[in-house]
Amino acid sequence: TYVVTEACIKCKFMDCVEVCPVDCFYEGENMLVINPSECIDCGVCEPECPAEAILPDTESGLEQWLELNAKYSAEW
Ligand code: SF4
Repeated sequence: TYVVTEACIKCKFMDCVEVCPVDCFYEGENMLVINPSECIDCGVCEPECPAEAILPDTESGLEQWLELNAKYSAEW
């Protein structure tokens, strides 16, 4: 799955939301999040983010962001 990270906070450009083929972006408290169980790992959103806030969860140190993405997307 892909993960929305810190750089998204108070940004919300929404470009990523428009390109996602499965509509798995949700609005968190002050940033967007990706629902990890809906994301199909296509990677289309990553280059669309002007803040470079979207990263694949294969990168290290993203545990807390993955948790936060899961938490906020589950509230919908
Ligand atoms: Fe949506 Fe693809 Fe980005 Fe996952 S990787 S959030 S499916 S655009």
